[in-house]
Amino acid sequence: MSAEERFDAIIVGAGPAGSACAYVLAKAGKSVLLVERGDTAGSKNVTGGRLYTYALELVEPGLFAQAPLERKVVREQIMMLSSTGGITVDYVNYKFGENVPQSYTVLRAPFDEWFAGQAEAQGAMFAAGILVDELIEADGRIVGIKAGDDEMFADVVIAADGVNSFIAQKAGLISDITAHAVGVGAKEIIQLPPEVIQDRFNLSEEEGVARVVLRASAGVTGGGFFYTNKDSISLGLVLNPEELGRSGKKIHDLLQDYKLHPAIYPLIKDGTTIEYGAHLVPELGFHGVPKKLYRDGLVLIGDAAGMVINTGTILRGIDLAIVSGVAAARALIEASEPGKVGPAYLQQLEQLQLLPTMRLYKGFHELMSLPRMFTTYPDMANDMMKFMFSVDGNLPERMDKGMLRVLKSHVTLGQLVADGWKGFKSI
Ligand SMILES: Cc1cc2nc3c(=O)[nH]c(=O)nc-3n(C[C@H](O)[C@H](O)[C@H](O)COP(=O)(O)OP(=O)(O)OC[C@H]3O[C@@H](n4cnc5c(N)ncnc54)[C@H](O)[C@@H]3O)c2cc1C
Repeated sequence: MSAEERFDAIIVGAGPAGSACAYVLAKAGKSVLLVERGDTAGSKNVTGGRLYTYALELVEPGLFAQAPLERKVVREQIMMLSSTGGITVDYVNYKFGENVPQSYTVLRAPFDEWFAGQAEAQGAMFAAGILVDELIEADGRIVGIKAGDDEMFADVVIAADGVNSFIAQKAGLISDITAHAVGVGAKEIIQLPPEVIQDRFNLSEEEGVARVVLRASAGVTGGGFFYTNKDSISLGLVLNPEELGRSGKKIHDLLQDYKLHPAIYPLIKDGTTIEYGAHLVPELGFHGVPKKLYRDGLVLIGDAAGMVINTGTILRGIDLAIVSGVAAARALIEASEPGKVGPAYLQQLEQLQLLPTMRLYKGFHELMSLPRMFTTYPDMANDMMKFMFSVDGNLPERMDKGMLRVLKSHVTLGQLVADGWKGFKSI
């Protein structure tokens, strides 16, 4: 790359948002530079592990079939742990695995590397190992980027640099991140033979499980996740950093406790940890999307634009990153001049249903913030199960009385009604 080059678009960050954008732009004949600070795309990225395929289909129909995906998800599970056991709701739907399977488990290192390679194959220039450390501005417009001594220029710079985007901050579109706005995630990948995974989860060779876990870390608001890959299991926690700080505990220690939980350990027993990573996740949903998603010469996509939905049962970030990348690319392709890219991007986000979907789920952040959601209620549900299934030969308590006793031992009726009302309003 020469010290000064000009492109139609420079994309900062080769995560799913950046690579999707680069792919669509390059395919349309635009000159694109995709810059990544990691030595390879994906080398610095952490994800729980599930990708919804519709997003890849939007980039190019059939693309999902070429992607290095792990297992198609046919079992959706919700688990509520107590200190000694757990309740698992296991929803099996083999239709989720038909034709274009709805979602796959995914490992980010191979996936991101493949996706950036696909963008390159379409004609994008991919430069890895380059940290963008400055934006270049002229007459109030963003006109390029600086990486060390190198300056590169473009009609539009696309910030795909992830959560707590340095580019968005430099451009004045977001301020520095607060602990309230993010979750802190820690994850391990544990290797196991495929047959062991299939036996333990009742799966065939290509099928997989996606599991969310409530009360995965005693006393700290947040949740756990668990995904089966071909020959490994991805599991981890996403916790509220403020509460984590107050608890004085370390996320790594909580992750170890989670792994050793009696309802989790048998599933990963005899496995070998092959990867550990930690990363932030935008947590505010629609409330975390910046008021302005563009400036003259600059557009924000993916996590850099806060585009993550967490309903407690579904975490969607990768698909929204890809859709926003496609939206930015389409905007640039259709805009008659660079100044029109920003408004066209907003229109695309509406047309592709990204912003409408985020608006629809905007109350879920409040639901997830209910303090008893991840502590008291999973404990209560476990105690109810214990009561229901206990037999000791003595005269049992009446079912209705026993259930009410268990309920009252965890919450007052006032708290239950207040939480129910807040929960109902938030969704
Ligand atoms: C623990 C955890 C579990 C998750 N689970 C799921 C899940 O199961 N499903 C799901 O859909 N989403 C999940 N998410 C969210 C998902 O990972 C993100 O929403 C998604 O990765 C966002 O993609 P992106 O391309 O916007 O950003 P990223 O994937 O973060 O990519 C940003 C890229 O920019 C590069 N970069 C940053 N700064 C610079 C710079 N200055 N110069 C050059 N390059 C730079 C980075 O190295 C990185 O490659 C999870 C997140 C976490 C943390």
